[in-house]
Amino acid sequence: MLATLTPHKILVAAALYGGFVVVLFIGSIALPGAVHDGAPLPDGTRIKYKLNGLVLYLLLAAFLATAGYFKWFSLRIVIDHFWALLAVANVFAFSLTGILYWKGRRAGAKLQGPLHDLFMGTEVNPTLFGVDLKMFAYRPSLMGLGVLNWAFAVTQYETLGHLTTRMWLYQAFYFAYLTNYFQFEYGMLYTWDIIAEKFGWMLVWGDYVLVPFFYSICGWYLYANTEPLPGYTAAALVLLYCVGFWLFRGTNDQKHRYKVNPKAIIWGKPAETVGGKLLVSGFWGIGRKLNYTGELMVYFSWTMTCGFDSLIPFILPLWLACLFPHRAWRDEQRCRAKYGDVWTEYCRRARFRMIPFIY
Ligand code: NDP
Repeated sequence: MLATLTPHKILVAAALYGGFVVVLFIGSIALPGAVHDGAPLPDGTRIKYKLNGLVLYLLLAAFLATAGYFKWFSLRIVIDHFWALLAVANVFAFSLTGILYWKGRRAGAKLQGPLHDLFMGTEVNPTLFGVDLKMFAYRPSLMGLGVLNWAFAVTQYETLGHLTTRMWLYQAFYFAYLTNYFQFEYGMLYTWDIIAEKFGWMLVWGDYVLVPFFYSICGWYLYANTEPLPGYTAAALVLLYCVGFWLFRGTNDQKHRYKVNPKAIIWGKPAETVGGKLLVSGFWGIGRKLNYTGELMVYFSWTMTCGFDSLIPFILPLWLACLFPHRAWRDEQRCRAKYGDVWTEYCRRARFRMIPFIY
């Protein structure tokens, strides 16, 4: 692997990675988009977010498809420079962490010690040229993941002369998931990361390195896999994906609609709450983290397009299966501190977290 890290490859990777992030940043400023209010801040104000991720993502997809069709360049360059890109992304993420730490100190953020502050961050909403850097980071993260996925498809096409059913299914699952994310980008505004987490190494590295380079792991197992996928397996994977997607999107959507309008209609009735603060209608009355359950189903469905010859692609959903319970536990600590008895009552009403009657 190290042998592939030649100075030339590093330079090309730096140009590709840097260009990609800069173009997305300029696009985020320049392209039109609906303006949404963020969740109320502790001082009662709200940040305004211009959400144009969908148009940016579709323009990116259209540009790369056009470039591929007219053979301006091949996306295979991304796979050929994978390790160099990974190295560059790490340098970028560590540098950005340092800059954010320095920026937070200068802005007079409350500090808790350099290691803690570098890891967890110093500011919840650092901005550059009016762009919220934490919300922006999902764009290079998820669009980078999309580009890597497409690059694996291009590599397969150039190697085999066609795309396998496994690859088609994987690409369709991921494309729908990423498009849906950008279509409902506003749903992020009430998530824990956006409302509560500071922007430090944990989120920076997660967005700029972990998600694109690790979440595309299936590509390595798919692009050379020519084993046919039986029709009944494909149908089962589509079913698992659709149910998971419905659960994950439905849960997040219900919470978002409730936060924007506490009288929102959920499953045909006005939202029911505990103490006027926590939603207990719809999915939120069945489990406290069914969005995590649905997302896990989605991840397992596309991982299984790789088949079962190797355990390695399964590291991703298995890792999420460990991350989500830990994250749910951390989030519940926060909610217990914030909502007190109301949270206790909510836990009594919605007894389970991710799997009714089990967990
Ligand atoms: P949630 O979207 O569940 O947000 C948690 C917050 O929602 C709580 O802190 C609380 O904040 C509020 N809340 C909790 N319960 C209720 C309730 N009953 N009624 C009203 N508000 C409530 O969790 P995350 O932010 O962790 O996840 C968001 C999405 O991101 C999920 O779909 C998850 O699967 C996905 N995700 C994906 C990851 C991946 O790697 N693929 C990683 C992490 C998350 P408040 O103070 O506003 O009340």
